[in-house]
Amino acid sequence: MSGLEPVLLCCDLDRTLIPTGQAEESPDARARLAHLCAHPAVRLVFVSGRDLRRVLDCIQEWSLPEPDFIIGDVGTTIYARGGQAASVGGEWAHWPAWTNEIAPDWHGLAHDDITHLFSDITAIRPQEANKQGTFKASYYVERSINQHVLDAELHGRLWQQGADARLVWSIDETANLLLLDVLPSSASQLHAMEFLIQHLSFDERRALFAGDSDNDLQALASHINGVLVANAEPSVKERARQLVEAGALEDTLYVARGGFFGMNGNYAAGVLEGVVHFMPEMREYMRLENESDDRVT
Ligand SMILES: [Mg+2]
Repeated sequence: MSGLEPVLLCCDLDRTLIPTGQAEESPDARARLAHLCAHPAVRLVFVSGRDLRRVLDCIQEWSLPEPDFIIGDVGTTIYARGGQAASVGGEWAHWPAWTNEIAPDWHGLAHDDITHLFSDITAIRPQEANKQGTFKASYYVERSINQHVLDAELHGRLWQQGADARLVWSIDETANLLLLDVLPSSASQLHAMEFLIQHLSFDERRALFAGDSDNDLQALASHINGVLVANAEPSVKERARQLVEAGALEDTLYVARGGFFGMNGNYAAGVLEGVVHFMPEMREYMRLENESDDRVT
């Protein structure tokens, strides 16, 4: 055996592992991450708002390590490879245990029933097909709308159908639109990670989530060890610190600052820095081939 206790490393993708923000990425960061993830004790989970296809595309585009699980579509799906899932040949497939966990919230309804229920509401416009899921109905909404009134109307209709749903609002600054996701109330990235930890019988202290933005705050401020990469906006760092303070969970948040292995703490470098903060013995597994001890500072 490897001698290492198993580790469950959960990472957001956009601007956490994928270096598409303004900040620079240290040249060695992703190579070190890949080295770490090659260790058999490390189970890697990607956590993203993206759907499966767009997660797989970015793995290829950015040469990311192959994950063991993908939590996609804002926490409404968990994908696993054959063996863990109802699939053959190592293809990615829905992990049915997760679907069974969240489906009851919608009381027998699924995506098409929700869009039918809202079909006469002209203030909301369905997003593209690849942004929809069985348990995710996503819309574009004009920013001028009275969000409070619309939210109440949608909730009212869902309640009449017995559906327990969560409405998640966000802003697409580029398109100047509001984005709305209608989800089962128990479907979240945090709950999906908790579910994985429980079903894989992981020691929760050996699990870690890394993220960068507002939509990662729920998981970052939870009882699960959280890492904010250094490239996160100052406002997100501030909010994360306030949240853990309010919940007396300061010990489970680490904000990367750089300096580790001479890297800057952005993106994958921040993830690695956080892994070592919570599990110092993992440092050994981040060295590149032929790297001598004296470079490890
Ligand atoms: Mg992100």
